[in-house]
Amino acid sequence: MYFDRLLPSRLLLGLMGAHSLAPAFRAFGRGLVSIFTLHRFADPQLGVVGHDPAALRDHLAYLRRHRYRLLSLTDVLKRLDEGDSGSRTPAVAFTVDDGYDGFAHIAAPIFAAYDCPVTLFVTTGFLDGRLEWVDAPARDAAIAGLSRQLDVELSASPPPAFAPISWDDLRRTAKLGATFGPHTVTHRILSLAPDEDCQWEIQESYRRLRQETDAWVPVFCYPNGEPRAFGRRELEAAQRAGVRAALTTLPGYANTLDVPPWGGLGRFALPRFAYPDDRPHFVHVVAGLVRIKQKLQGALTNSSDATLPSNTMSRPCAGLPA
Ligand SMILES: [Zn+2]
Repeated sequence: MYFDRLLPSRLLLGLMGAHSLAPAFRAFGRGLVSIFTLHRFADPQLGVVGHDPAALRDHLAYLRRHRYRLLSLTDVLKRLDEGDSGSRTPAVAFTVDDGYDGFAHIAAPIFAAYDCPVTLFVTTGFLDGRLEWVDAPARDAAIAGLSRQLDVELSASPPPAFAPISWDDLRRTAKLGATFGPHTVTHRILSLAPDEDCQWEIQESYRRLRQETDAWVPVFCYPNGEPRAFGRRELEAAQRAGVRAALTTLPGYANTLDVPPWGGLGRFALPRFAYPDDRPHFVHVVAGLVRIKQKLQGALTNSSDATLPSNTMSRPCAGLPA
């Protein structure tokens, strides 16, 4: 990297912190794909804490203004198959995990307004009402309410703030351009499941999803997606289930050179960045600056893995069994 010979590394890192300069650095993101993981979306009326819809609009407008390429997961698969060495523009893809109702009412219309592809990873048992209501904050709130009104019984289904998207609403968002991928049946951490259950969770969620919508993509997403959540057995199970790739929450760019050292199974452990709500960190990621900062700070600290912005590190899925 010749920049670090022209400028002191710490000064360069500071300049990169100014998101207004990000377009100037965008050339370094050539060939990189940032896949973001999102979860829930803020809905003050229901008391849902999550991604700020206004920030999402701002980020999508930024990507459009600076002519980033917005990819569907189908496009990402195509890049993995065919390569994309001629492209000068970094690419971005968005994924939303779990299948909460807010996707239909808040997120999908925003992505559609910016003509931006998005994939929802669906925990199919959650939509089918097969999961127990296990969200800890919801349970605690209900218990508190119960103590005030002893004649109220706990509902067997989640309250509106914790409701899944319905299959009908899922199909409605498909008409807006959204696509869908399997995220297991029960959101079980696959590495902790017996062989048979591990395989069933992937296959059955993939089968159930295709039964309900034609807008599916052959890409699986591991619950939680952290290093402890999957290993070679899970990658092989995903391959056997017939999907063509699988996503983790390991932070990194999803070009073929960045996948973990799984050999031919690399496409079943593709990295994703946690979605940062603040624009400077968002811009750092999409422009490829995380990679540059890693190199520079690695040189400063002699540590190659201490440099990712904390809000782009992996985050577990919230609110579902883990
Ligand atoms: Zn999840």
